Amino acid sequence: MGSKTVKKSNLVNISTLFTESRSFVAMVRQESGVDEKDCYQCGKCSAGCPLAFDMDYMPREIMRMLQLGMVDDILHSHTIWLCSHCITCYSRCPRSVDLPRIMDTLRLEAIKRGHAPEKQIKLFGDLFLWSVRQFGRVFEMGLIMGFNLKSGQFFKDIMLGPAMLLNRKISLLPHKIADGGAVKEIFDRTKEMEREGGHS
Ligand code: SF4
Ligand code: SF4
Repeated sequence: MGSKTVKKSNLVNISTLFTESRSFVAMVRQESGVDEKDCYQCGKCSAGCPLAFDMDYMPREIMRMLQLGMVDDILHSHTIWLCSHCITCYSRCPRSVDLPRIMDTLRLEAIKRGHAPEKQIKLFGDLFLWSVRQFGRVFEMGLIMGFNLKSGQFFKDIMLGPAMLLNRKISLLPHKIADGGAVKEIFDRTKEMEREGGHS
């Protein structure tokens, strides 16, 4: 009774998990070009992040989880989808850890593994890219209306519209940039790189 014998199958599972998490960390290091070991957990990134208030794990915690190879927790976190790539953390980091690049790599990996992102974040991202592809820049009014219609929140922020229009923060019609072809070329090249399995 109370035997401390560890089943062989359990040992195999632990060893497989360990190998998987090490290879995940190595992949993130290679794809992002950032060495997670450079982070010494000072927390300056979390203190300066403008979106930290809504994150489930602080940027510093994401770095620690990465160092520990906590694959599932990282890939299911909201934080990786909330990061807006503002680079505040990168500019404050005493070790020059490029956290925004790490976040990008984690998002791509989450998509590859079929972990659904926050639906509304994905919808916003898709509409944003559609707008840039169409007009070469963001058409805010189209983005807002598209987002409200597709997310079913028809009257979201509706009271802000008139004031923004009056103050010329948004316009009723889109403005195309002159060289729309160059933007289209960037999108086409990116699609091609995705097909070839590249990220950079
Ligand atoms: S600021 Fe840099 S070193 Fe400090 S916790 Fe964040 S990533 Fe790590
Ligand atoms: S890049 Fe992302 S993690 Fe870094 S400060 Fe900005 S929102 Fe926060």
